[in-house]
This record gives sequence, C-alpha cells and structure tokens, in this order.
Amino acid sequence: MNSLEIINSGDKFAHASVGNLHSFDGKLFVKEATGATSCEISFGTLPTGAAVPFFHSHKGNEENYIILTGKGKFQVNDEVFDIAEGSVIRVATNCDRNLKCTSEEPMTYICIQAKEGSLSNYTMTDAEITERENKL
Ligand code: ZN
Repeated sequence: MNSLEIINSGDKFAHASVGNLHSFDGKLFVKEATGATSCEISFGTLPTGAAVPFFHSHKGNEENYIILTGKGKFQVNDEVFDIAEGSVIRVATNCDRNLKCTSEEPMTYICIQAKEGSLSNYTMTDAEITERENKL
C-alpha cells in the first residue's frame, strides 16, 4: 500500500504525490494532504479480475472517474459499459456505481468528487491572464 507524500507547500499551494502510478496499490484520498476545499480526489487501483468490493451512491456529490491504465467495465445502476485508458466517466448523484478491471494490466484511476451543480464559472469565464516573471 502506497502512502501520500507531501512534497512541499506554500501560502497558496500544496503539493503531494502518490509516487509511481505503476507500483501504486490500493486507494488513497488526497484532500487531507493538499487541503483542497472544492473537491475530493482519490487514486485507486484494481488488479486483474477485481471490482470495488461494494456498490455505493452519493447524496450530494457527482463523481468523475478518469481511467489512467488498464481496461474494464463500469456499472451505473443496471447499465454496464466498457472503459479503458483515457475514459472519463461522470456519475450523477443518487445511483449505484462500481468498476472492474478485466485487463492483464492493473487498472489505475482517479476519482474526483464535487458538489453536483456547483460549477458555475470555469476556464476563461473564471481565469484571467496575468503578468509575472517566468522563472521556470
Ligand atoms: Zn464515491
């Protein structure tokens, strides 16, 4: 089981890492390490043939699953569909969900949960171009 390592932080940021995703094992939630206030992010892995051991549903948060490695199946209530590396799946509130790895390669994924309907401004309706010396 990996752990979440806090790399560095400042007044306006926090940087944590789960390390190498190919050796990552289990499930890790990020919010505590980074102090995120708008969403919870978790990293998860499933070995070949494994599903999450339970279905679950959320009352107020939607979830967005991003599949990083592997292939498998995703179930929302009684609907089942194929997923693979690069898939992004949004799941609404008040429904049951689960996923299973069917590839020889382990499935690695990120799940972001945030309050359903809370996104009002984004990208260029929220961001502005700023002037700053580039030190990269
Ligand atoms: Zn969930």
